[in-house]
Order: sequence, then structure tokens, then C-alpha cells
Amino acid sequence: MAQRLTEYLEIADGRIRCCRCSADICDRAENYKLWVLQDRVPITEVPGAGDPAPYGMAAELELRRYCCPGCAVQLDTEVSLPEAAPLWDFQVEDAADVD
Ligand SMILES: [Zn+2]
Repeated sequence: MAQRLTEYLEIADGRIRCCRCSADICDRAENYKLWVLQDRVPITEVPGAGDPAPYGMAAELELRRYCCPGCAVQLDTEVSLPEAAPLWDFQVEDAADVD
């Protein structure tokens, strides 16, 4: 039995997979963002975002889009410093609760 994590991610048989195309992504104990497609662009190149400097933000911020390696559906987005690791949105701690 699968447990839904997000709109497009679920856990089944100890693995995180895409609900849309069933692509296997990674073990449930891992950060799925390390195993999916990533698109990174400087925040200044995002239409409508403008220059972050007047707002006291770091100009080197980037927008990251994470997409399924099987069907390319967008799984998540985040704004981060380029050198920062992908945010770990959720961590499954007790395997007995998810199968
Ligand atoms: Zn997919």
C-alpha cells in the first residue's frame, strides 16, 4: 500500500516514487531531490523577480525546480544560495508506519 507524500510523490515498498508515472526515485530514507532532475537559474533571470539587492537579499540566490526523471512533472521549487544543499522537505523516520 502506498502512502502519499505530496501531490506527485508517494512511498511504496520502501521507495519514493512518482505517483504520475511510477518512476522509482530513491529509498525512502534519502532526500529525493538528490535523485531527480534539477533546473537551476539565478533569481535575477526569473521573470517578474527583478533585482533582489534593493530588498537586502543576496543577489546570488537561485531558483531551483525539481522534476520527475520519468515524466518531468514539477515536484517542487525552492529559492536558495547556490552552494546550499537541497532542502530536505520530509524525512520518514519509522518504516513501520509507511508500508
Ligand atoms: Zn513521473
